[in-house]
This record gives sequence, C-alpha cells and structure tokens, in this order.
Amino acid sequence: MTAFRETTPKHRVGRKTCKKYTTYKKTLREDFLKRCGYCDDVDELRIRSYVIDHFLPRKPDGWTHTIPDNKYENLIYACPFCNSAKKNKWPTRNYKKSHDGIQGFVNPTLIKYGKLFRRNADGSIAVFNGNPLAKYIHENLALNQPIHALNWKFEKILKQEKILKTLHNSTTDPIIQASIRELRAQQGDLAAEIRGIYNK
Ligand SMILES: [Zn+2]
Repeated sequence: MTAFRETTPKHRVGRKTCKKYTTYKKTLREDFLKRCGYCDDVDELRIRSYVIDHFLPRKPDGWTHTIPDNKYENLIYACPFCNSAKKNKWPTRNYKKSHDGIQGFVNPTLIKYGKLFRRNADGSIAVFNGNPLAKYIHENLALNQPIHALNWKFEKILKQEKILKTLHNSTTDPIIQASIRELRAQQGDLAAEIRGIYNK
C-alpha cells in the first residue's frame, strides 16, 4: 500500500470576501491543486462537473446553523461523486465539531485527513489501520467507487508517458526507440479508453 495523497490542499489566507460562494470556484480550484479534496481525483477528466462543496453543509440534516455560505474556509473543491455522497450529513449536530472520533468528517485541508486512508496497488482507496472514523468517512463519501481507482490509473499513465518520452529522446538505438514507441502507443490507448469511460 502507498500513501493516499501526495499533497495537502490549503485555503489561501486573505482572499477578498465575495457575496456569492460560487465566485470562489477558480481560487478554490487553485488552492485544491485541481483535485477533489475528499478523494484526491485530479479534475482533468471531468473539470466541468467539479463543484464547490460546503464542508459544514449549508442545510445539515435535522438542524440549522448561522455560518454564512460564503465562508471561504468552509468551501471544498469536490468531484461530483464525493459531493453527492456526502449530501447534508453532519452527525455531531454541532457546527464546531466535525466528528466525535467515530462518526463525522475530517477537514481535507488537514494533514490528518490524508493519513486516514491508503492506496491499494490498483489505486483504490482503503481505510488505514481500521480507524473507525476513516471507516465512517470512507463509507459516507463512497470512496470505494471504482471511478477513483480509474482516475488514479489515468494520472499514473500520464506520468509514465512523460518518462517514456524522455527515455525515447535519450537514446539513438532504433530497437529501443521502437519498443518505447510501442509502449507509448499502448499507454495512449489506455488513456483514451479511460477518457471514453468518463465521457460516456
Ligand atoms: Zn471526490
């Protein structure tokens, strides 16, 4: 198993306040390094369907709060899968407490969030060390959806493609070059196949 994510997103400090939370999308995308805060999927394959999630839901199930919906620090750049799985859940019913150690959510801008999970060899997301809170989050964000492993593979292919290109340019041996070309074509087919699945 490998680390769940390589980077931790961070809200910039001093962002000018905007009336509508939707105005923050571009800034938020930058702060979240073009990735869903919850599953770490890069947005390249479906950038238009990425949304702004409210970490503390605007209208949590069964209770209310007065935190304004344009509070920048409460906004998370999210993929449509995590956003629709999370819905209006906030089990502690206390706006100051995102979890009780067993149920609830950890803010993905905390390093701690990244340590709750691990990646299996196929890129799927797994709970680390049986942590009960990680289990709750994994289940309530539906992080077991195969789409996340697919996105992870797509990103890996893009990285391999860059390496293969460098290798190709660093040799003059025609046999090695031909093999690399073949590998690059295979990787290209795989990437196109994944794009196709996303654009169905
Ligand atoms: Zn996601």
